[in-house]
Amino acid sequence: MPIIQQGLTWQAMARCVEVDPEIFFPERGGSSKAARAVCSECSVRQECLLYALANREQFGIWGGTSERERRRLRRLSPSRNNVALAR
Ligand code: SF4
Repeated sequence: MPIIQQGLTWQAMARCVEVDPEIFFPERGGSSKAARAVCSECSVRQECLLYALANREQFGIWGGTSERERRRLRRLSPSRNNVALAR
């Protein structure tokens, strides 16, 4: 996860602040395994994913998902994403 923004308290608990941010932006065809491993142990993974979906984050690993996976999630349930994000 790249940038900590004001007003996003969940980011204060983000596990990725402890590691090199470059691992969350693998080169095309590169491995996202290291980033996903960090995300898998993160207590705010759901908040991170919802944020990425709401903001249509196009690059990097967010909430343990790739850009492609987030596009698929938005296509599968766009209205459900909106409901979850409205909470
Ligand atoms: S889920 Fe991953 S990218 Fe999101 S805050 Fe946690 S460690 Fe960072």
